[in-house]
Amino acid sequence: MSKTTILIVEDEEIVAADLASKLARLGYEVRGSAARGEEAVGLARELQPNLVLMDIHLKGPMDGVAAAEVIRRQSDLPVIYLTAHSDRATVQRAKLTEPFGYILKPFEELELETHIEMALYKHRIERELRQSEERYRLLFDRSPDGVFVVDAAGRFVVANPACEIISGYSAAELLRMTFMDLCAPDQLARTVEVFHRAVNGLESLQLETALARKDGRRAEIWVVGDPLVEGRKTRLHCTVRDITERKKKEGELRLLSTAVASAVNGVAITDRNAQILWVNPAFSQLTGYTFGEAVGRTPRILKSGRNPPELYREMWTTLLKGEPWHGELVNRHKDGSLRDEEMTITPVHAHGAEITHFVAIKQDISERRRVQAALERTAADLERSNRDLEQFAYVASHDLQEPLRAVGGFVKLLERRFSKDLDAKAVEFIAGAAEGAERMERLISDLLAFSRVDAGGGAFAPADLNRLLAEALENLQASIAAAGAKVASDPLPTLTVDPAQVTRLFQNLVGNAVKFRGERPTQIHVVAQLEGDRWVFSVRDNGIGIEPEYFERIFQIFQRLHTRKHYPGTGIGLAICKKIVERHGGVIWVESQPGQGSVFCFSLPAPSSEPA
Ligand code: ADP
Repeated sequence: MSKTTILIVEDEEIVAADLASKLARLGYEVRGSAARGEEAVGLARELQPNLVLMDIHLKGPMDGVAAAEVIRRQSDLPVIYLTAHSDRATVQRAKLTEPFGYILKPFEELELETHIEMALYKHRIERELRQSEERYRLLFDRSPDGVFVVDAAGRFVVANPACEIISGYSAAELLRMTFMDLCAPDQLARTVEVFHRAVNGLESLQLETALARKDGRRAEIWVVGDPLVEGRKTRLHCTVRDITERKKKEGELRLLSTAVASAVNGVAITDRNAQILWVNPAFSQLTGYTFGEAVGRTPRILKSGRNPPELYREMWTTLLKGEPWHGELVNRHKDGSLRDEEMTITPVHAHGAEITHFVAIKQDISERRRVQAALERTAADLERSNRDLEQFAYVASHDLQEPLRAVGGFVKLLERRFSKDLDAKAVEFIAGAAEGAERMERLISDLLAFSRVDAGGGAFAPADLNRLLAEALENLQASIAAAGAKVASDPLPTLTVDPAQVTRLFQNLVGNAVKFRGERPTQIHVVAQLEGDRWVFSVRDNGIGIEPEYFERIFQIFQRLHTRKHYPGTGIGLAICKKIVERHGGVIWVESQPGQGSVFCFSLPAPSSEPA
């Protein structure tokens, strides 16, 4: 151990020399010696001894007390006065410099050593105490957690700056408050109870509670405290942490994890090497692998061997670029069965660009695929059977036409040649047969027209619908004139259609409007209106109208609402209209009120360049 070093300040050379030899005998090292105050200050700074032995009366303007004061301030060295003077005034002045000893001359060697050792000890303790205080002060001031002390009644004794941040109150305000004043009202009772237990039972305190901040906001906090008995008082030394954000995040996380856990889609989280870290119950349901069976393995357990290798290559290229992959895979269930799955895999970048995890979300689309395939089969079957039916109707009606014409012709011949020879009953029978044949011919020709809408339809070409309507009216001229009907129309567009079919469409609708007229003079109005990407046409009449319950039925083949006696017809007209409109990619419907008239509407797609 190195020796204790000492600076001697003494104006009497002989005394100084004597002192130095005494100190050497006691095992100290004399670093230097000064005779004047100013000199002592300089040497103390330069030599940095462990201790200064200071005479009070010195030569020169600066005496020992003044020198000691400067030394203590600038070098923090312990000073022991060595003096022959013990007058009150000097002692008083010396005291103010907080000396570590005061030795009156003459003195014993033992006395000197005791004083020196005591002074060094005291000085060391003082310095350690000061350093420790500084350390704690720094921690107190800079701690991100609130640190505070309250008395047994909860009154703040000290509070650090973090307490100000957490509560919103200044330290000065806090020192006039109790901890209970800060409590959120719903937390007060519980907090008071825990506080009292800590103070009275001298228990540590751990408490999650909430504050009403000065700005009115609520702060969730975590308080830890320990009671400390100081004399007759008990105080609680506490730290407090604001956990508002953490609790909010915890809540959000809980919500998220509940949502993911209870999702109907299977969810699996893997690390960057595709090792499964977590799966939700839906994943287990989908794959047959429980959480315990899936975790630690890779999704390769689901491999079916049915997916082309390019699919996996494309998947990994996409994922390693950091982009999500979406696609369909055939996977194998634990029970060996194959499942069609639709999947989205998203790479997770937790810190910057590095991929840390993958999240796979998938659903079983086997059922959807099955239904889709069944639907496609049914649609194909339906199309085939429709085609067959049309073919049959066409062939049947075509082939029926010939014999029917023969029957009609012979009945007419019979009527012409023999009616004069027959009685009234026979003539009536012949007329009935002729009418029946005629009706059947109409029916067959309508049926033929119906069956030929799709298969026998003409080519689509741009056509001015004003012209097509005019043609239809031309064909209806006789019945319009007979009914005294007025037909008006607004300008119609030019569209790409099957012109013959659209003419027939207008003809059927206007023909019906004339046929099903009421008591009032018949008025028919045809208009067209552009609605988004389609033209909506309407044929409005003021005829007998239709009950809403029949709005659907009348578009079916052979469906009529009246007997032939009241209104002639075959019940095929609107079915043909529906087929024509649908062949053009539109829909047809009716709006009507019995007795008020009807509006038959149909839509046709507008060319995409049509001005809006
Ligand atoms: P048809 O006219 O040969 O009876 P449709 O298929 O053209 O056959 O019409 C079916 C039924 O719809 C008609 O019998 C009639 O009851 C009703 N109907 C059609 N158009 C009108 C209309 N403009 N006003 C009232 N009823 C109508």
